[in-house]
Amino acid sequence: MIASKGYAVQNSKTPLAPFSFNRRELGSHDVLIAIQFCGVCHSDLHQIRDEWGGAIYPMVPGHEIVGKISKVGAAVKKFKVGDLAGVGCFVDSCRTCSSCKAGIEQYCENGMTGTYNSYEKDGKTIAQGGYSNFIVVDENYTLSISDKLPLSAVAPLLCAGITTYSPLIHWKVRAGQKVAIVGLGGLGHMGVKLAVSLGADVTVLSTSASKEEDALALGAHHFLVTTDKAAVKKVRNHFDFILDTVSGKHDLDLYLGMVKLDGALVMVGLPPEALPVDAFSLIPKRKTLAGSMIGGIRETQEMLDYCAENNIVSDIELIAIKDIEAAYIRMVKGDVRYRFVIDMTTL
Ligand code: NAP
Ligand code: ZN
Repeated sequence: MIASKGYAVQNSKTPLAPFSFNRRELGSHDVLIAIQFCGVCHSDLHQIRDEWGGAIYPMVPGHEIVGKISKVGAAVKKFKVGDLAGVGCFVDSCRTCSSCKAGIEQYCENGMTGTYNSYEKDGKTIAQGGYSNFIVVDENYTLSISDKLPLSAVAPLLCAGITTYSPLIHWKVRAGQKVAIVGLGGLGHMGVKLAVSLGADVTVLSTSASKEEDALALGAHHFLVTTDKAAVKKVRNHFDFILDTVSGKHDLDLYLGMVKLDGALVMVGLPPEALPVDAFSLIPKRKTLAGSMIGGIRETQEMLDYCAENNIVSDIELIAIKDIEAAYIRMVKGDVRYRFVIDMTTL
């Protein structure tokens, strides 16, 4: 066993606190990563507070992990000691179902193994995430990280980056299209950068008027506060594609009204409660309402390489692990500029 330390919650009510635990010994295909940075995703908060149900404790959250390979198993081919490596939202999957064979392991028919809040393949060890000093992962579920970009700002690509990249590519967002990003937080700001890089005309739909300057600095072409009724009216049946990153309860019909004929609204935000939808918001203009979950390993590597080539990283606020609870409070208020990343040397 590899003695490790991190920050964990013991149940949905307690704050994160220092925690010692064991990682498995390296198997022949495993790598040991010394974690340097871990991004803070709103999903971490949903899960430690058990907002989606079925939480497994104790829980060390964190699935935007970057660091250096410090040891490799005997049969490892992709990595050597000293390489930069990353881990996203899952660390394994069945490898045999049609989804796994197609490289979309996030949709594994038998259920992927989450990086945390999940049981490892042995069915009894609780998988623990990246708010920790080390992680042991199969090389096939480990990403290669370029040394061209600042590592701390690359960490959020492992979830916020791929979660926004995958639907933009799947729905073939391209130059000349009108795209809107709902919610300017961790996912939203990556959605803006990526949609802009694909050549789309990008609008941010936000509840925070104070984020306008930032939205434009991130590359967005337009900014709209969704409480401004006149502005909302102007974009009725307007967008080819809307990416909805909102973490809480919101009015889907409002945003569906902005989608044009044959356009789509794709949800990536995961509000804990169900949101009602009026059929009249979809049917008269043949609109699509869809969802999308992270991305497969192949596509995540493609996104990381694309970001390295195009110089795309996250705008981050680096924090010490002791300040995590304060960061959560700001995240709930929508005050994230635009991703908190934990410096793991502060552990
Ligand atoms: P975040 O940084 O907290 O950003 C969410 C943003 O949504 C906020 O900054 C705010 O932006 C807006 N917002 C929040 N509550 C709202 C409300 N009630 N009504 C309207 N707008 C609201 O969160 P994140 O880390 O980007 O994650 C966003 C969501 O995506 C979470 O639910 C997370 O669990 C989910 N997620 C899904 C996947 C996936 O695979 N599909 C992957 C990762 C995360 P404004 O101030 O601009 O309004
Ligand atoms: Zn995430």
